[in-house]
Amino acid sequence: MGFEMIDYLYKTTSKWKASVESMSYYEVLNTFSAPVYFFTISGGWYYGVWLVLPWYYKDFSQSFLFFHQILGTIICSEMMVNWLCIRFVDTSYLDRKTNEEEYKKLLESAVKNQTNNNGKSKGIVLQCKYWSWAPCLVCKQMRPPRCHHCPLCEKCVLKRDHHCYFAGRCVGFYNQRHFVVFCFWAIVACLYGGLHSFTYMTNEMWPHIRFLDLLFPVAILRAIFGYISLQMAILVCIGNMIAYFAYQSSMFLLDMSSLISRGVTQFEEANIHGNKMIVTDKRSTADKIASVFGKFWILNFIVPLHFVLPPVEDPFSWPHTTVTTKSS
Ligand SMILES: [Zn+2]
Ligand SMILES: [Zn+2]
Repeated sequence: MGFEMIDYLYKTTSKWKASVESMSYYEVLNTFSAPVYFFTISGGWYYGVWLVLPWYYKDFSQSFLFFHQILGTIICSEMMVNWLCIRFVDTSYLDRKTNEEEYKKLLESAVKNQTNNNGKSKGIVLQCKYWSWAPCLVCKQMRPPRCHHCPLCEKCVLKRDHHCYFAGRCVGFYNQRHFVVFCFWAIVACLYGGLHSFTYMTNEMWPHIRFLDLLFPVAILRAIFGYISLQMAILVCIGNMIAYFAYQSSMFLLDMSSLISRGVTQFEEANIHGNKMIVTDKRSTADKIASVFGKFWILNFIVPLHFVLPPVEDPFSWPHTTVTTKSS
């Protein structure tokens, strides 16, 4: 029985190892980042609310501590709910109208046999304008402007902005608001958590650790060899992640605010500048915000409202957006 068990474990481990090795760097990043984020949010809440806050407010009244524990729980819940919404609100595009014959005709019209200067064939290429319905060769369907295929999500994503590795999903038309709200609450959590943890760290942790223990790989190794406690190593890991997420969330919130106010996507910023294209949305800032958050945008920062107040936008024809070529 023992040998059977070892054999089974060996086969399972080998299978897992082989599947990891066959993954590209981005697939590995996509698979492991989501559990890391989940661990950081839930671990940050657990140690923050049940260890750091009671220590920090030990000389205050019970009701004052209770108020902060509720506040900490609300902040973490906002983060968790919006993280789940980024992951599970479907923003993919699936064409249910065009049949296979129609798709083949549309595809043929987009295919061109490209030749070089000598007239020799360079092979078959797809020629589609950026701002047009274009074929997705993977999903075998026509997709609207701003909709792009994501190889990690394995779907065509409406208004694809970027792939978020920490949620393991693309940010697009229906979940962009959750990404923005998540970044906002992540910054609040990092500020609130950082303020309380700093005093806890300097008083309770610092006497027991060395400077290099503040780096999470060193802390994990030293915990394995028994130099510091496991709880200390977990707190260092969460602290490192909070510092990293504070930086990332701030950058993303600034970037998203700029993109939404200009009516462009991160995909367009990254990919079509080289083609000298300008994407313009002449609506007011309030209308551009409504095209992402729906009406009463501020309410989304309290409750997720994608199912009640959808984006005020047509994600198939984009009637308010124009694309022009830069005159060089
Ligand atoms: Zn596709
Ligand atoms: Zn994706």
